[in-house]
Amino acid sequence: MSLYARERRIAELAVERACRLTSIVSESQQTGSVSKSDLSPVTVADFGAQAVIIGALQNVFPADPVVGEEDSSILRNDVELRERVWKLVVEASGDDYQSEIGQVENEEQMLDYIDWGRFEGGKVKRMWALDPVDGTKGFLRRGQFAVCLALIVDSKVVVGVIGCPNLLVDPADGSSGKGMLMSAVVGEGAFSRPLASPVGSARPIKMSSLTDITTASFCESVEAGHSAHDQQAKIAQLLGITKPSVRMDSQAKYASIARCDGDIYLRLPVSATYEEKIWDHASGNLLVTEAGGIVTDMFGNPLDFSQGRTLKKNKGIVAASKAIQPKVLEVVQKVLQES
Ligand code: AMP
Ligand code: MG
Repeated sequence: MSLYARERRIAELAVERACRLTSIVSESQQTGSVSKSDLSPVTVADFGAQAVIIGALQNVFPADPVVGEEDSSILRNDVELRERVWKLVVEASGDDYQSEIGQVENEEQMLDYIDWGRFEGGKVKRMWALDPVDGTKGFLRRGQFAVCLALIVDSKVVVGVIGCPNLLVDPADGSSGKGMLMSAVVGEGAFSRPLASPVGSARPIKMSSLTDITTASFCESVEAGHSAHDQQAKIAQLLGITKPSVRMDSQAKYASIARCDGDIYLRLPVSATYEEKIWDHASGNLLVTEAGGIVTDMFGNPLDFSQGRTLKKNKGIVAASKAIQPKVLEVVQKVLQES
């Protein structure tokens, strides 16, 4: 019996419910997008997804703290937006009061659940990292986005779940339908299944076994403000890669390389002061590692999840299979030294 079987199951059910919520928002074409104080967009889907996921965690693991991206301050000051989020939470949760993950009972509880995600993180026994809608800009442009939830125990990611409602079921077949759910437990491998298929039906996924880097494909953010496209192009060129980069938003990048739909994920910083957020990397880091890959920062250090809400001790991300990651890292060093 897996040490974290229950945590994984609950995390999958919670992420599935949140993905249902994001689909309702996409179909309604009313994203309720507003700007946060850092001017990044946040939608009713971000708030609703955080509420249903933390609601599930609070019902089943009430003592566990959560480091979540959002807080409720905007909703507490905007009755109309709050009511829209509440309606979504109710609709996405359905009327299944027997569900293992319970229900959010009312609007006040919804706001409190969202704020349970304010935990500061750090060196603790157990905490969850949550990005309710990673890649909000991708969500708004109907591209890739991901609902990401990870359990961190003693500063190590032990469970990672990523829901990708817009990822093709079969990347080679455009008519295969959309919506994938990936999950991993430390030491037990990485798995994937279509969203809404039974929890136990997941199949193992593995990173590509490619050894000739010149044939590799690499992925990076769509947003030029989130990673250094020019330096990444230079690295690809020095590796002899000829295929253009695949640009997509969110941790769908980690999910894609984990299931062999791409080989390398590069994320070099554009700003010397930006600190990556733990919720942007916890799930993806475990998924790739368990699928046979290596994730380090741009200096080759493992990601350190014990530093609070951000990865203060790390800069940049280099993820690829075990066979090629060291070589990619070598070229990254070269380009960094030249710049
Ligand atoms: P991506 O989809 O790869 O563009 O990454 C989306 C994430 O980038 C968001 O969840 C933000 O937390 C994060 N982000 C915001 N600003 C920056 C920045 N200057 N550098 C790196 N990541 C950022
Ligand atoms: Mg994010």
